[in-house]
Amino acid sequence: MAKSPQTQLPLKAFGWAASDTSGILAPFHFSRRSRDSCRENGQNDVTLQILYCGVCHSDLHTLKNDWGFTTYPVVPGHEIVGVVTKIGNNVKNFKVGDKVGVGVIVESCKECECCQQDLESYCPKPVFTYNSPYYDGTRTQGGYSNFVVVHQRYVLRFPENLPLDAGAPLLCAGITVYSPMKYYGMTEAGKHLGVAGLGGLGHVAIKFAKAFGLKVTVISSSPNKEDEAIKRLGADSFLVSSDPAKMKAAMGTMDYIIDTISAVHSLIPLLGLLKLNGKLVTVGLPNKPLELPIFPLVAGRKLVGGSNFGGIKETQEMLDFCGKHNISADIELIKMDHINTAMERLSKSDVKYRFVIDVANSFSSL
Ligand code: NAP
Ligand code: ZN
Repeated sequence: MAKSPQTQLPLKAFGWAASDTSGILAPFHFSRRSRDSCRENGQNDVTLQILYCGVCHSDLHTLKNDWGFTTYPVVPGHEIVGVVTKIGNNVKNFKVGDKVGVGVIVESCKECECCQQDLESYCPKPVFTYNSPYYDGTRTQGGYSNFVVVHQRYVLRFPENLPLDAGAPLLCAGITVYSPMKYYGMTEAGKHLGVAGLGGLGHVAIKFAKAFGLKVTVISSSPNKEDEAIKRLGADSFLVSSDPAKMKAAMGTMDYIIDTISAVHSLIPLLGLLKLNGKLVTVGLPNKPLELPIFPLVAGRKLVGGSNFGGIKETQEMLDFCGKHNISADIELIKMDHINTAMERLSKSDVKYRFVIDVANSFSSL
């Protein structure tokens, strides 16, 4: 009987996977795809030993099949920082020993209009870092694992001065808020930005906003995050979304809002906070559609937009920006065997502000 493409692959990897919608992660042995007809590391490939991997809410959505397209078993993780252990002959920009990052995408068609414009994140044939069919028929598996092989185009140089663990979340959380701020022109010093949802994406958005010189107000469902938002993360003010008096007093005061909320919520209060011509950009991906209230949009000439994580060129620009401004995430570093507890806490918005898995030290005893 012919072997499946997955079992023919020569690279034996180890990670933690979920095998059903319980989302519970457990140790998992699997084979990695490798390019060029199953050679270990193709001409254009970079192999990296994974050191750290951030825990994104998209990992949790995927584990629970919130979006309806999870294929099990799935090894999540797309905020990967590692060290290069092998390179192909055509690889010029990386060498063995380099510290590098891999984010949300590991392949795209390279020919479409999006790829030609360095917008691989909008390619109609993307291969995501996990839970994606790869071109050779296998499935990709993510960074909750010991190593990964990636085409050089999708590998990022990690800034020398940033911590490898606290820098890992930049590979998804960072670029996902940086990209819309740049694209939608939400960077003008002195303007007022609302950050809805103070989690992994939200707390990095505050840091970018302060680097751009914006005034920042956090809009949160968690009153207990106020002190830290202001004293530790540098926000200028804090609104509890369930406090009608304070929400009313803040109406019409914001130029832009970046909405990172992971669950279904009403846009009406957020749109009310915007000034005339204000922009609300949503990056959160709740499992059901949000209602779009037309009246406040029309009456205030407001705009609602969306944004995906950025392309590779912009991701490198964002990492270099972070290196220059010393921006990284505030993290809780965990070992892999703590991951199910971490997921439980993430589902309750109880993380300050990103879990990062100490992957290499979790697996070193194996
Ligand atoms: P996270 O760390 O869990 O943060 C989400 C925050 O949303 C929570 O901390 C909480 O903030 C708020 N929230 C959660 N449930 C809520 C509810 N029922 N009502 C009101 N607020 C609620 O998640 P994340 O990793 O930052 O990701 C956020 C979202 O962005 C997820 O849906 C994720 O899948 C998506 N995402 C999208 C992209 C993209 O490319 N567009 C990339 C990465 C992530 P408070 O406690 O302050 O209320
Ligand atoms: Zn993510």
